[in-house]
Amino acid sequence: MTRHGGNMQKIDKNIFRACSGLFVIPVMICLLAGCAGTGDSPLAGNGSASTDASAKAGLKKISAAEAKAKMEQGTPYILLDVRTEEEYREKRIDGAILIPDYEIKDRAESELPDKNAVILIYCRSGRRSANAAKELVDMGYTNIYDFGGILDWDYETISDNKNGDAESMKILTYSVGSHSANCYLVYDENSRKACLIDAPDYDDEIMDAILSNKLSLEYIILTHGHFDHILGANAFRDKTGAKIAVHEFETEYLEDPEKSMTSYFGGETVTADILLKDNDILTFGDISLKVIYTPGHTKGSCCFINENEKVMFSGDTLFKGTIGRYDFYGGDYDTLMESLQKLKSLDENYTVYPGHGDATTLDGEIAENPNYK
Ligand SMILES: [Zn+2]
Ligand SMILES: [Zn+2]
Repeated sequence: MTRHGGNMQKIDKNIFRACSGLFVIPVMICLLAGCAGTGDSPLAGNGSASTDASAKAGLKKISAAEAKAKMEQGTPYILLDVRTEEEYREKRIDGAILIPDYEIKDRAESELPDKNAVILIYCRSGRRSANAAKELVDMGYTNIYDFGGILDWDYETISDNKNGDAESMKILTYSVGSHSANCYLVYDENSRKACLIDAPDYDDEIMDAILSNKLSLEYIILTHGHFDHILGANAFRDKTGAKIAVHEFETEYLEDPEKSMTSYFGGETVTADILLKDNDILTFGDISLKVIYTPGHTKGSCCFINENEKVMFSGDTLFKGTIGRYDFYGGDYDTLMESLQKLKSLDENYTVYPGHGDATTLDGEIAENPNYK
């Protein structure tokens, strides 16, 4: 795939690389200081009583190594930007969501409903992130990491910092199974870490591609729980040790052959390893996929986007020229229409890789797809 601009993603990666001590560049000293809590943040800790109290209440100081480990283990996390909308539009870390610090109290509970989610907060200087972190902790959030300020990050220096590892994302497409569902093998050419988007059936050709490309399959990401997307999940997990990730509302499908309709194909059930929510991010190697919750075809159908390459995996929500059915268990037309509008509200064009049929583009569908009329 060709790369499309976007220094942000590289910054994101390099933060952790730099913090790991492998590539220590001067601009990172500030961030490291922020991580270590030597800044002016009232919560960043020198062992003061208030810091200890906050830590007990759920605020965590994030060490660079821990942050890196989280990314590499693919721990789902939310990157929360608490600056203003204007600042966010100008420069941001790829994948970050925005809630300005002065709106945290009003918006956090609805936009960050999971109080146990891992949330990394940043702002410009570290002051607002510290305040927002404290507010969230006071509201009962238990996994808050104050990431500090990005004021002194030198974007130019970082983006020019050639470590020979510019992001390189490969997508191989397979049409598999009795219902010709698409299975995408997505991998980072540098780290060789990979994921499958949907597993319609076990297929030797896909396994051969994993082996011959020397890939480490980290995740089997299911767009939803219908039989034609999951029948190969167990077999691929058994062979590779990958973790199966799916939206939390899809477990009832995975575990019930009637709801998944695997009852017609031997009644396979699947137990997920990772339950996803809207805006969660799964990372493998240098590639991040963000969860866009798009119910309507099923209760927990999701699309997954890579913001750096502007790629979307749309499952059975959006196809080229049409949309998924809404007459199966848990399907709902109005909900599906809302999900289509949610995709439309993403402010950029994406190449769309659907669950069936040919790839398309989001802008093309918004213009041509009758369901967008
Ligand atoms: Zn389906
Ligand atoms: Zn399907």
